[in-house]
Amino acid sequence: MGKSPQGEEGRAVGIDLGTTLSKLAYVDTSGKPVLVPNAEGELLTPSVVAFTKTGVLVGRDAQREALGNPSRAVWHVKRQMGNPKWRFKVDGETYTPEGISALILKKVKQDAEVHIGPIRRAVITVPAYFDDARRKATEDAGAIAGLEVLDIVNEPTASALAYGLARSVEDGVSLVYDLGGGTFDVTVIEKRGNEFITLATDGDVQLGGKDWDERVVNLLADKFRKEFSEDPREDPQALAYLWVSAEDAKKTLSRRDSTKVPVSYKGHWGNYDLTRDEFQAVSEDLLAMTQLTTEMVLEEAGVTWSGLAKVIPTGGSTRMPAVQKLLEKMSGKPVQADVPVDETVAQGAAIHAAICSLRGEGRMTELSAEAAARLGKIRTVDVSAHAMGLIIKDNRTLQYRNDVLIPKNTRLPSSITKTYQTSNDGQQKIILQVVQGDAPDPAANITVGTLEVTGLPAGRPAGAHVKVTYSYDRKGRIHITAEDQDAGKVIATEITGRAGLRADEVAEAARRMSLKSVE
Ligand code: AMP
Repeated sequence: MGKSPQGEEGRAVGIDLGTTLSKLAYVDTSGKPVLVPNAEGELLTPSVVAFTKTGVLVGRDAQREALGNPSRAVWHVKRQMGNPKWRFKVDGETYTPEGISALILKKVKQDAEVHIGPIRRAVITVPAYFDDARRKATEDAGAIAGLEVLDIVNEPTASALAYGLARSVEDGVSLVYDLGGGTFDVTVIEKRGNEFITLATDGDVQLGGKDWDERVVNLLADKFRKEFSEDPREDPQALAYLWVSAEDAKKTLSRRDSTKVPVSYKGHWGNYDLTRDEFQAVSEDLLAMTQLTTEMVLEEAGVTWSGLAKVIPTGGSTRMPAVQKLLEKMSGKPVQADVPVDETVAQGAAIHAAICSLRGEGRMTELSAEAAARLGKIRTVDVSAHAMGLIIKDNRTLQYRNDVLIPKNTRLPSSITKTYQTSNDGQQKIILQVVQGDAPDPAANITVGTLEVTGLPAGRPAGAHVKVTYSYDRKGRIHITAEDQDAGKVIATEITGRAGLRADEVAEAARRMSLKSVE
């Protein structure tokens, strides 16, 4: 069933759907991943969406438009993925985080199609630490944008794949330190021949370059307030400009020891000196948080710094000299300075998309026989970033607690089967409350939802057997199946109260999205 890239199936691409920037890549005939430029001729598309009176803008133009009209724009929507409460209302329409992300995907897809032909299928990357709801939201965003999502792949795994393949890196264990615009992950990955095996991962989905920007925003606003007794943070437009200046200044301080930043508000003009030392001092605690996580992950992987072959930085924020210094201090080895930190995630996603296509179709006509044979041998193994647990009543303390079923850092896919017995005659219902996390206190975990096993026939005596299988698939998504063991049939699979859109809501959003044009 070989399909031409321009055929009905179209290309399979990799998309790095980032907090601040998104990128799309495909693999060329030789199997090399190549980033595709957008309509503005740039490889990185700002993940900003602006609603104008005439349409929807995404990227550089949206960023500019948003400065003049911040209330009609969305930045950093990735941070809201999986948040059922977040909605953006504009011109009588309500958007979910999935819907806004779909607009970004639509833009990178349509711009890339000009260069590489129709795109139908994609692998989209997620931070390794994304939980089930955030992973589902990402998959749904892809579907809403009209893509068949071949797989969701962890960003550090994608980086390791791109890095390892591009350089034919020797076998060994690497640490991928991934600090992007909005999220942070550390992952320990072992390369063994054609296998890329994740040993452990941890992170923070609310820590990234944006937090460093915020420190600069506050530093500048405080300086301005001290001089003029006015605070630019009080006005959304002035604040939007301040964020842009702060990010610019931060980037300059990666290259220079000091910079000057102009700030204007209510007719006052300030021009402030900002040094790298000052910047590092106000963001020291953020860096320290990444250090703590890094050390913890190594311990969980059972690897010492001396046992590491390589430290691979990825994500734009690893350009900050303080990050490089920290990695060198901790590891005692030079950090791979030659990694294109912005590109490896999308490149790895493109390689993974090619691998998925090869598995699905047997061959891809756009790949040479040699490349297909080489990529076809590659295997990646991920781990669960979060434990999966069940809330149970402790017989001893009579308190509810989290009973961990699948521990964190278990190789995926993974499943566990438990058999329960009904405790009363005629009992027809068993309620199972599932969480992600390993804290004993139920409230300290992420609620996934409830499996209501209601299909048990009436009139059975107590002691009827119900077999429940809890699983993580390869993507880190949760599935639960309850079986009436005595009758040998599946009676429940639907997790209620689960965050995210229902299948019919995704289909309806996709229909509406197909009518929308994005520039
Ligand atoms: P990513 O999500 O990997 O594309 O990373 C984007 C983040 O990297 C944003 O927060 C940027 O501000 C940040 N970034 C990009 N270039 C630099 C630089 N030269 N110095 C510091 N941060 C940077």
